[in-house]
Amino acid sequence: DVMNYEAYFRRQLEGLHREGRYRVFADLERKAGAFPRARHHHPDGAGEVTVWCSNDYLGMGQHPQVLKAMHEALDSCGAGAGGTRNIAGTNHYHVLLEQELASLHGKEAALLFTSGYVSNMAAISTLASRMPGCTILSDELNHASMIEGIRHSRSPTRIFAHNDPRDLERKLSDLDPHAPKRVAAESAESVYSMDGDIAPIAELCDVADAHNAMTYLDEVHGVGLYGPNGGGIADREGVSHRLTVIEGTLAKAFGVIGGYVAASSTICDFIRSFASGFIFTTSLPPAVAAGALTSIRHLKV
Ligand code: PLP
Repeated sequence: DVMNYEAYFRRQLEGLHREGRYRVFADLERKAGAFPRARHHHPDGAGEVTVWCSNDYLGMGQHPQVLKAMHEALDSCGAGAGGTRNIAGTNHYHVLLEQELASLHGKEAALLFTSGYVSNMAAISTLASRMPGCTILSDELNHASMIEGIRHSRSPTRIFAHNDPRDLERKLSDLDPHAPKRVAAESAESVYSMDGDIAPIAELCDVADAHNAMTYLDEVHGVGLYGPNGGGIADREGVSHRLTVIEGTLAKAFGVIGGYVAASSTICDFIRSFASGFIFTTSLPPAVAAGALTSIRHLKV
């Protein structure tokens, strides 16, 4: 029999419908200056709605200073970055933004990506896959982007119970301490996106330190919202220095788009040099970097 591809995909979609998991996107036109109001376009026309589920938590996506910075950068630099980072696509706004992000998390350096998803996927997979013998310890509720990074690394992985340092301790203790180059990286989110609960970062770091494991924290839902500088939950709890890598987004509380990691100069240089998802894609538009920079600085004070 000849395979009917269209019919195959249709059947898969019907399955989603049956399970009630078929996604329908609301067609929205956000209204700058009237946060969180939007116009909702639907088959019968259009109407006004209030959006309570946006990740633009603070409305920074329409803050006058952010818009002004973006307009200015758009007029002075044009629309696109003009290249990948290593082929003419490093704009001065990227450099300033990376310096600002490093300072936000008290780290030596930071590295920009086109989204938070890409930053997790690229950084986790690069760090783990290029460290032979590395086992990854991952919280059971970690975000899809971290899971993709872990899968892509092809490293052995142990899943520990959600926000449970004792289970992490058990799982780390099970690993052979004499295995060559055994380094465990633990991945967790500071504020979990689905349940809104908060990771016991210091306790997780205590366990990681006892086993000489690197730590990687996703602060996507924490940055801009918590901590004296808006550096997230780790900033609020004064533990940023204990984390090897802090990952974040410019798309939620900062209201724009883009992702990043902040870490030591060596680790950022390593990711910069080896991560395909950093090297082989056009960098963020300068206006986006300018808007994010203004948003971070505004929330810092
Ligand atoms: N990490 C977490 C925990 C998230 O909820 C999301 C959601 O989007 C991401 C990473 C990805 O960030 P971005 O939207 O910037 O790609």
